[in-house]
Amino acid sequence: MSVGNTNTSPLKNLKCSCCGGYTLGRQWHNRDTGWGLCNGCVSRCFKGCDNDNEEFERVYGKRGVHCDIRASSITFELFSKYASASKLLNHGRKWEVFFNGLSIGFSDSEDEAGALREVHERDVNNALYGNTADCPIPLRCTMPPKEVLVEYPLLVEKFSIKSDI
Ligand SMILES: [Zn+2]
Repeated sequence: MSVGNTNTSPLKNLKCSCCGGYTLGRQWHNRDTGWGLCNGCVSRCFKGCDNDNEEFERVYGKRGVHCDIRASSITFELFSKYASASKLLNHGRKWEVFFNGLSIGFSDSEDEAGALREVHERDVNNALYGNTADCPIPLRCTMPPKEVLVEYPLLVEKFSIKSDI
């Protein structure tokens, strides 16, 4: 397994043209400046394009590049700036973590920073698993870039990633 490409074009905080929320993404030329699409709206807008990937890309850009940026594609530092954790009351879990317009997982960590770290690491783990031959279902997972993998040496070891990291 090799390391994913690092896209050097900077991510920006864009406004979602579908729901008006904020999301990390890259400007696509067919969107007005400052506007993008949040992860929570991707599947609805994909259906709106008759599930046609070419049409979706024409309108919204490439998933994983312009929109649909996953936690596992960015460093923990950047993730923790844009993700948030809500404390849960009368719920089996302690925290629910949100990123780019979607709930992406729960945590029982003592504090918010721990919840963000746990959910980020889990997303990296899942992205690595999704790139293995053992993965039974086709997960659309972008391989985490090198700057993310160096944050998780144990996962790199677990998934036997051979690279120069
Ligand atoms: Zn949205």
